[in-house]
This record gives sequence, structure tokens and C-alpha cells, in this order.
Amino acid sequence: MIYQLPELAYSKNAFSPILSEESFDYHYGKHHQAYITNLNNLIAGTENEDKPLEEIIKNSQAGLFNNAAQTWNHSFFWNCISPNGGGLPKAELLDEINKNFGSFDSFKEQFTKAAATLFGSGWAWLVKNPDGKLEILALSNAGTPLTLGKKPILTLDVWEHAYYIDYRNARPKFIDKFWEIVNWDNAAKLL
Ligand code: MN
Repeated sequence: MIYQLPELAYSKNAFSPILSEESFDYHYGKHHQAYITNLNNLIAGTENEDKPLEEIIKNSQAGLFNNAAQTWNHSFFWNCISPNGGGLPKAELLDEINKNFGSFDSFKEQFTKAAATLFGSGWAWLVKNPDGKLEILALSNAGTPLTLGKKPILTLDVWEHAYYIDYRNARPKFIDKFWEIVNWDNAAKLL
């Protein structure tokens, strides 16, 4: 199978000024595209060519893992933001967040801290464990909950390439703005 960039559910300028069109041109059009191109080159003519992406991610290391996981993580991430996002999650998800983290504000604080303190490149995740409990994870580099048997609910890309065009080195400002565009409806569907 030949992978391609997923279509975005919004236009590349839909988040301006929180995320500029230029940042989408680079993050989606160049970084995500590069992972996909690398993945296609790495699987061409191999046994991985016809395997589902999730299976490649769970059974690979090094370059293949990095590019496969980054391909998947980014496709997931684009659905974690919405021009109509922000605010509070609706009933069921809000209840689960309150139950697992004490309150919505406490969840937001813990997720923000995980994203801000992740050293180097990586992803902050809200995941659902097999026992139904929600958990926040900070995973380095191409880290993904798929290899941990945990269900991804929400993610924030905190690689520098995700925010440098609009926020330079100020990762905390980017995280702060994420809460204005976070797609709770998508997260609720995955719960
Ligand atoms: Mn990225």
C-alpha cells in the first residue's frame, strides 16, 4: 500500500492566528509528508508493503518504526484540533475526566505539565487503558500508545516543528493556545 497525506477536515488557514497557514504548509505539507514518503520507501518491496499501518508500528524498530509511528501520530493529531474546538468536553467525556483526574482543571494542568516538561521531541497523550481508566502520557520522539496496548483519545504534538513558526521557542504558549482549538468531539467519539 502506498500511504498518502490524509485530507484535513478544515482549511490550512482555519486556525489563524493560533496556527498560521505557513505552519500547516510546513508541519502537514513537509514534516508529515516526509514521514509518509520515508515510510513508503522503507516498505516498498518488503513484507510490510501490505500490512496495516498499526501492525507495522507494533512490529518495527528504528527508522521504520519512527516513520510509521510519525505517519500515524500526525494523522491522529490533525483530528485532535478543530476550528470549532476549545471549551469543555461534553457530558460523558467530562464525567470520565472528572472521575480520573479529580476535575477538568486538574486534568488540564496535568496534561499541560506533561506536554511542557517532555524533554526534547515527543507527544503528550490522553489514553484509555484496558481497565477503562484514563491516563496522561508523555512519550518521546515517535512514541505512540499503540505499542503500549493503550487507546489514544487525544494528543498534542510538542516537537519543535509543531510550534516554531508561530511561537518560536515558546512551547508553553503553544500548549496554552491548544486548549482553544482542542477537538473534544473527536476525543468523545474515541472514548
Ligand atoms: Mn509534528
